[in-house]
Amino acid sequence: MNLDYPITYIKGVSVQRATLFYTELGIKTCNDLLNFFPFRYIDKTAFYAIKDLQPNSSEVQIVGKITNVKSVAQKRGSRLVATFQDTSGTMELVWFKGQKWIKDSLKIGVPYVVYGKLNHYNGNFSIPHPEMELVTEYKKKLQTKMQPVYPSTEKLTNSGVSNKLIRNYIQSLLQQFYDGIQESLSEEIINDFKLMQKRDALLNLHFPKNQENLAKAQYRLKFEELFFIQLQLVRKKLVNKTKIKGFVFENVSDYFNGFYKNNLPFDLTNAQKRVLKEIRKDVASGAHMNRLLQGDVGSGKTIVALLTMLLALDNGFQATIMAPTEILANQHYMAVSELLEGMDINVDILTGSVKTKKRREIHQNLEDGTLHILIGTHALLEDKVKFKNLGIAIIDEQHRFGVKQRAKLWTKNELPPHILVMTATPIPRTLAMSVYGDLDISVIDELPPGRKEVKTVHRYDSNRLSVFKFMKDEIAKGRQVYIVYPLIQESEAMDYKDLMDGYESVSREFPLPKYQISIVHGKMKPADKDYEMQRFVNGETQIMVATTVIEVGVNVPNASVMIIESSERFGLSQLHQLRGRVGRGADQSYCILLSSFKLSVEAKTRLKTMVETSDGFKIAEVDLKLRGPGNIMGTQQSGVLNLKIADVVKDSQILVSARNTAIDVLQEDPNLSKKENLPIRNTFFKMSKTSKVWSNIS
Ligand code: ADP
Ligand code: MG
Repeated sequence: MNLDYPITYIKGVSVQRATLFYTELGIKTCNDLLNFFPFRYIDKTAFYAIKDLQPNSSEVQIVGKITNVKSVAQKRGSRLVATFQDTSGTMELVWFKGQKWIKDSLKIGVPYVVYGKLNHYNGNFSIPHPEMELVTEYKKKLQTKMQPVYPSTEKLTNSGVSNKLIRNYIQSLLQQFYDGIQESLSEEIINDFKLMQKRDALLNLHFPKNQENLAKAQYRLKFEELFFIQLQLVRKKLVNKTKIKGFVFENVSDYFNGFYKNNLPFDLTNAQKRVLKEIRKDVASGAHMNRLLQGDVGSGKTIVALLTMLLALDNGFQATIMAPTEILANQHYMAVSELLEGMDINVDILTGSVKTKKRREIHQNLEDGTLHILIGTHALLEDKVKFKNLGIAIIDEQHRFGVKQRAKLWTKNELPPHILVMTATPIPRTLAMSVYGDLDISVIDELPPGRKEVKTVHRYDSNRLSVFKFMKDEIAKGRQVYIVYPLIQESEAMDYKDLMDGYESVSREFPLPKYQISIVHGKMKPADKDYEMQRFVNGETQIMVATTVIEVGVNVPNASVMIIESSERFGLSQLHQLRGRVGRGADQSYCILLSSFKLSVEAKTRLKTMVETSDGFKIAEVDLKLRGPGNIMGTQQSGVLNLKIADVVKDSQILVSARNTAIDVLQEDPNLSKKENLPIRNTFFKMSKTSKVWSNIS
């Protein structure tokens, strides 16, 4: 028997029970069970002094005496409260059920050991329904170990699978197989990072002797988990680099140079130059480029995209930009056409609203190669769209496209075109390593010169009058103002009412004919929306009242004030995107975050972050901490985040070490064929065969 045997080989596990383990927890083999980790531990090895308690909701054990017991009336019924004291301080023990019986059994002034989950409220600590034992009784027992608590399900519990039972199964496995547990990392890595041996790590994770050993065991297993994921990602990247051939853009000639000399309207920032260099190196290498370009709103990604496309043109290829919305595609089309003015380059736009006749013409020009650059939306992905020789596809705002759609562009011609994915949603470095670990990443981390930071303040609804006054002053200077309302699907009806109420009160405050107001929301017909939007773009209206539809797109340099209503209801990245709509002209711009007085701790953190920084990456880091990696835009599809023990946010340090180690290992031994890497090789190939997570990575 070995660890690959089904768990029915463990004494006491019937076929029926094994089936339940599989359906409820996905556990099939002994090895699966050994890798089923506790999610917390009952630590009865330590005693705490009341003064040392921390508000962390952990479970603690304290020795002290009850000095007083009383019944306290509350909204419904009452609760029993005992004052509990040790030499360092005082806290409370609380009961809601069985009060009478408990009250009679409590002894005043006699030392107890109490154990339970700590509550913290208004600066006071309490334990509801503590486990209690008289010290005299406690001393008779010898219970000093940390006990693992395993995740479970109702079905398991109901059919008699208790935590204790799971513990026993795992204990017997460890007793039987400890010596047979194979090391999965090389000696070098273990020594370099002073890691615990695999078998000891497993032993200590399930049955830790003390907190220190537990920490070491966790570190080892987190490192291992992240290491193998990174190994997979880095390897995939290397394989792509060597196996997938790409077009070689070796010529830099008239299109690129001519544009640079005659049409480039400004000097590139250093960040833009650096990124362009990275891209040029890629497309000249003979390998296929698959690069992510991150840059905050307004950092100047368009010009980088354009210069990259010109490289393709210089080498006889076509280029395309795909955007998530028509507005955005239009804006790209206009920007690109303007920038290319006077150059002999054919640019066209293909979206859902392009008429059949025009569409046919585009298809034709694409196929015979007279069209050089095509800009568009999803419409580009239709089967009828065939390029003569597409050299590069640029995808804007990546998170709006699925992986499948990305792949579809690839199939347009024999060799895959180079891919450049642009996103204005900064992804924290550590998260990017996990989610996009197989892509190359470029970052524009510098805004063009002369940009003034958008002054951002948080105001309560009660300050609205002074906000109106401020708007009037700005409008008097010739500026324009956005007022944005939240629109959350679940509360759509209410939100529309808020929007309309808001619109009415703004209309009263800013009456015709002196003031003109645009309103745009999702329930309007596209044509009406465009009309209203266009009036604002043309400067015919001074105020734009809108739901978040303006988040993507709209470039109105003259707009200098962004007012966000109920800002506490927006997510951080959304707030950041909205704020990016102003600060595009030369003048000082403002962002006013309005909210009610009632704010959750998280909402406070979000608003405070917005006021304090305009650095998209810092904002993304905070967002990641608040919401966890699964909720960050663009990461949902990634299986990389279904981690067993590591946490990409909390364990970012380990992640960085693990990635660097994976890179080192593969650089020295790309096929993992060296003898010292045998443990890694064995584990790696076994995992790629069995693990569910891995199939999701690509
Ligand atoms: P985004 O990264 O949000 O797509 P854009 O490419 O639209 O940003 O650029 C935002 C604005 O900044 C545009 O008006 C563009 O012309 C301008 N811009 C871009 N790069 C520079 C630069 N190096 N110097 C001055 N202005 C620039
Ligand atoms: Mg852009």
